[in-house]
Amino acid sequence: MKYNQRHCHVCGEKIAESSEHFIPQAVGNKGPVKLWFLDPKTKQNGISDYSHINYTDGFFEKKLCPKCNNRAGRKYNNAFIDFINQLKNSAKFVDEDGLFYLNLKDVYPLRIMKILFNMFLCLNDFEPQEIWKPIQDFVKNIKLSIEDISKFPDVYIYYNQSDFGRISPYCSVIELWGSSKVFTGSEVAWNPIGIVFSFTNNGQFEKMPNIISWGKYDFSQKRNLQLKIPKYEVLSPYPFAYGDPKFIEYDNNKKGKVYLLHVPNDLESVAPFTRLLKGRKFQV
Ligand SMILES: [Zn+2]
Repeated sequence: MKYNQRHCHVCGEKIAESSEHFIPQAVGNKGPVKLWFLDPKTKQNGISDYSHINYTDGFFEKKLCPKCNNRAGRKYNNAFIDFINQLKNSAKFVDEDGLFYLNLKDVYPLRIMKILFNMFLCLNDFEPQEIWKPIQDFVKNIKLSIEDISKFPDVYIYYNQSDFGRISPYCSVIELWGSSKVFTGSEVAWNPIGIVFSFTNNGQFEKMPNIISWGKYDFSQKRNLQLKIPKYEVLSPYPFAYGDPKFIEYDNNKKGKVYLLHVPNDLESVAPFTRLLKGRKFQV
């Protein structure tokens, strides 16, 4: 099976004809949204420039079949909307580390985790890989919990206080003259949340709570949960792991920090570049 824009990213079988607001409209992805992306058509001397697309009512792409879109909407969305509302409405008095307590009441951890992985599958262009299979099964089968979280990426969250959003498809960030791979994974962010899916674990996200264990709950289990969350801003078109914009130039020059795109086999698919979103007012 060849995966591309025409096939649903969750079931991999049906045609992806459903215009999917994979950041749900009900959590702020609505109204005018401007999306910037590096446009290969503008390439001059090997360097591409940014182009933008204007969306009149939220950002969407055709990534799911109607059945998979309906499943997310009917079974997972309400739990997610409630979670985002609690995040939005919580007091955010930060401590000296820039963290605040989020006290979640009666949330459905498994349903939230399923919508997050639904987003993960939608934001990535991919070809068949074993790495996606357990994630697809987890999203597709409503009641399936995660028994072995080692097969899944870590899922870190932060409070995004800027009104920029960012979509980083699967990529790696490495240091050419450093020792290690800095990051492999992807990210989706808008106001008020940022979610980092990380396949590398080197402590760089340690301020953020890793909520992958929410996938271990049952579908009907509600929980009161307390998290300590950092406040960050989306300020650059680089993936979160690339670092603070004021250090990007330094990192590029001194450490040879680069970010490698995962290029899908299907070149007709959307260019796998990080994209920046700007809503007129990204608000719940
Ligand atoms: Zn489907």
